[in-house]
Amino acid sequence: MTHVAPETTGHSEPGPIKTTCPYCGVGCGVLATRGPTGVRIKGDPEHPANQGRLCSKGSALAETLSLETRLLYPEIAGRRVSWDTALDKVARRFSEAIAEHGPDAVAFYVSGQLLTEDYYVANKLMKGFIGSANIDTNSRLCMASSVAGHRRAFGEDLVPGCYEDLELADLVVLVGSNAAWCHPVIHQRLMKARERNPAARLVTIDPRRTATAESADLHLAVAPGTDVILFAGLLDYLRRNDGLDYDFIERHTEGLAAALNAARQTAPSIPAVAAACGLAEGDVSCFYHWFARTPKAVTAWSQGVNQSSAGTDKVNAIVNVHLATGRIGQPGMGPFSLTGQPNAMGGREVGGLANQLAAHLDIENADHRELARDFWRSPRIAERPGLKAVDLFRAIGEGRIKALWIIATNPVASLPDVNAARAALGDCPFVVVSDCEAGTDLSRYAHVQLPALAWGEKDGTVTNSERRISRQRAFLPAPGEARADWWMLAEVGRRMGYGEAFRYRSPDQIFREHAALSGYRNAGQRVFDIAGLSGLAAEAYDGLHPIQWPVTTEMPEGSARLEMPAMTDRAGRRARFVPVAYRAPLSTTDPEHPLILNTGRIRDQWHTMTRTGKAARLNAHLSEPYAELHPRDAGALGILDGALVRLTSRHGVMLARARVTDAQQCGSVFAPMHWTDANARGALVNALVGPACDPVSGEPESKFTPVRVEAYRPAWQGFAFSRQPLAFPDATYCVAIRGRGHWRYELAGESAPDDWGAAARAAGGGDADEWLEFSDPRARRYRCARLSASQLAFCLFVETGSSLPARDWLSSLFGDHPVPEDARRALLSGKPANAEQDRGQTVCSCFGVGINTLRAAIREHGLTTTAEIGDLLKAGRNCGSCVPELRILLQEARVS
Ligand code: SF4
Repeated sequence: MTHVAPETTGHSEPGPIKTTCPYCGVGCGVLATRGPTGVRIKGDPEHPANQGRLCSKGSALAETLSLETRLLYPEIAGRRVSWDTALDKVARRFSEAIAEHGPDAVAFYVSGQLLTEDYYVANKLMKGFIGSANIDTNSRLCMASSVAGHRRAFGEDLVPGCYEDLELADLVVLVGSNAAWCHPVIHQRLMKARERNPAARLVTIDPRRTATAESADLHLAVAPGTDVILFAGLLDYLRRNDGLDYDFIERHTEGLAAALNAARQTAPSIPAVAAACGLAEGDVSCFYHWFARTPKAVTAWSQGVNQSSAGTDKVNAIVNVHLATGRIGQPGMGPFSLTGQPNAMGGREVGGLANQLAAHLDIENADHRELARDFWRSPRIAERPGLKAVDLFRAIGEGRIKALWIIATNPVASLPDVNAARAALGDCPFVVVSDCEAGTDLSRYAHVQLPALAWGEKDGTVTNSERRISRQRAFLPAPGEARADWWMLAEVGRRMGYGEAFRYRSPDQIFREHAALSGYRNAGQRVFDIAGLSGLAAEAYDGLHPIQWPVTTEMPEGSARLEMPAMTDRAGRRARFVPVAYRAPLSTTDPEHPLILNTGRIRDQWHTMTRTGKAARLNAHLSEPYAELHPRDAGALGILDGALVRLTSRHGVMLARARVTDAQQCGSVFAPMHWTDANARGALVNALVGPACDPVSGEPESKFTPVRVEAYRPAWQGFAFSRQPLAFPDATYCVAIRGRGHWRYELAGESAPDDWGAAARAAGGGDADEWLEFSDPRARRYRCARLSASQLAFCLFVETGSSLPARDWLSSLFGDHPVPEDARRALLSGKPANAEQDRGQTVCSCFGVGINTLRAAIREHGLTTTAEIGDLLKAGRNCGSCVPELRILLQEARVS
């Protein structure tokens, strides 16, 4: 099932709709056009964030729009009900819980996927009418440390710079950010800027040698968790080397002396910094020298900084060096937090975090509470911060939360210590889940399920990492009975007795109210002020161009930069240096758990893969959960590249495929976060991660989990391909991967069937012109393939070891074409007779170009640039996300 094409509804084909990508915080503009063959997606050349570019995920958006796994109707206890029945039940159960146990007995857990209008209504209902601040968001897991660091430094959550600063800078320092994979369009803009300005330098600070690090002039592979020492050392170096801007400091800041003192004690010398951070002295010295000598410097960071028990201190250690040098809020200068989700910033604007009110008002400030209550004309207002994400789920487990509404997120996959979160949810008396997907890992905990609109159907605004508010517009009809999240929340608010305050008819009405609140009794006190947009009529809202806040009568066109600290001066504040000292991560290794696990994203997947997992081309790059290990660690543990491994922490266990690479630091392991029970059995990385959090921001320490890694030696392992989805209930490890015209399953099990032939026919038998089979009982190896109408329909390869053939060639046989005779003969070997036909693991997902093809082309044609590769193979010529990997292949060829 898919969205109905306009022709079948009698409408003519509409022109492109300008909207924004629903994935990362870059917030790229997208042109979506509905046509007879479906939806066409292009980058919007007029959107300032991406100027027409899209990464691999954005380019594949059209392939994620099918309705086959959508939740389309409200359900209670798994049975379809009317909206009235579902909403009445939600309102009644929340009201009863509040009446019996007080407002803090209920909670909302929301998401950076929500539009600002949804977020605004959720926050208003919880904080202004229910009277609790128990609303928190999955953005807590992603950038709460940046929010806390900004508030400590600027008195408000302010990102001073914009993307253009990364292009204008002569030095860009990327800390804990694999931008090439996680913010690809930013990385592409940065690479283009370096072509224009070859003297510009890029420094990456990351324990791993990522695709981003490969393109850097200097990569500092710091020991995990030591960033505070590195930046404290930089501050002290600037002091010792006449690098401080005392005039700026005097006029606009406070607290320098304490910060300098803390820096001196934390990082007294370059040798001390180098030893503590595991770096060469020369590299530290080079970085400090470059920074001191380069006025136009931007330091951008992401989850590698935020997801730490010292995340807030890391942010302030970075902000301190920019305040000390006066490099902030000017073209090409400043500290810059890159947000993970499409509307993490919008959530911060409306108070989606449990410790904020709305419109950058402070919940601890009685005047601010009164202001919000007065504006909302609400009967009550939350008087203290609510429960942050990890604490919220702990409270659920302790029975303190009687009713919970989870919106657009999947905490049973994404929270740390996920097994504890699952147990807690299982005991919660009343759980409401609103989502666009059915059958997620979360659905089984829901008493009520509410069908939400998905991307392409929703209508509202989002704010990206550079404070740019953009419209996300609908270009598809609402399927089934799916409705907007703001509508559901408002309906529940009305049914709880708060009628007048929730009589919204459209998102523009909500946006005007949000904008008006930001300007209400503001008078320059809060920098977040978009009152200039509070008078937008519906038509003007619909046509709103991307604009960066603040937007006021003095700044009707918005502001690319916050001229810090002039901004804070205007609000009657000084920017503050925050003294920071190194604190070791809260979890420590022991002989049982000697390695450090770092989790993160991969290039072609988004969050729990509910959307990107539908696009075959996105599954071709890295198809399976994996754990990256340094060759020395792998050697000591007897682990081979490509073998299955088991990771064990104090909290849980997961299985993954080993990737042995010296890009990984010795003593550390990296595993991506995307796979869930919905697509992989036994491979949930958040089962390992513990609940330790930053004490200031409440952000979990997802980059530092002590683990043990060992070879996993199941009784059998293998893989299957099928044109139809299959089930392998006896496999302990089972990863389902959607490919072009097929499903692929990676499998392992603790006990093998007595008769593989019978088991294979039971799993994948069916109409067959031919059943090919090979069995070697002594080697405990079995292979079979079924051909139907001369096409490959199913195959299964199993054995005890891990010397199975690569999957790429077999995958390529699942087209609409008959299997050629030479391929038929080679089928059970799993390899083509002619090795050149095996293109290898996909590197360029847009054009399906594999690593073997690329290596051969580079070798045989003497290619030396990515442009030459593009000319010959097209690789890298569409979205450009694979270009960093093409550079690595060229580099490999040069070395060899
Ligand atoms: Fe979407 Fe990619 Fe742009 Fe991020 S960089 S917003 S994922 S197209």
